[in-house]
Amino acid sequence: MTADPGEGPHMRQLLGAYVLDALPAAEARTVARHLSRCDRCAADYAAVAEAAQLLALVREEDLLE
Ligand SMILES: [Zn+2]
Repeated sequence: MTADPGEGPHMRQLLGAYVLDALPAAEARTVARHLSRCDRCAADYAAVAEAAQLLALVREEDLLE
């Protein structure tokens, strides 16, 4: 089993803002540190980052219609 990272709750709720670079620097640092220790959130981050890129593309095309 994976050990508890020991920094309180997981960061899933912050990942979206983190991907969009919308977090204050201190919070972004906390998320980055958590991601380096928590495989589960790191995997979620990878998925969110990919989705954000896809959404950006879709949004751009939708605006053209
Ligand atoms: Zn986590």
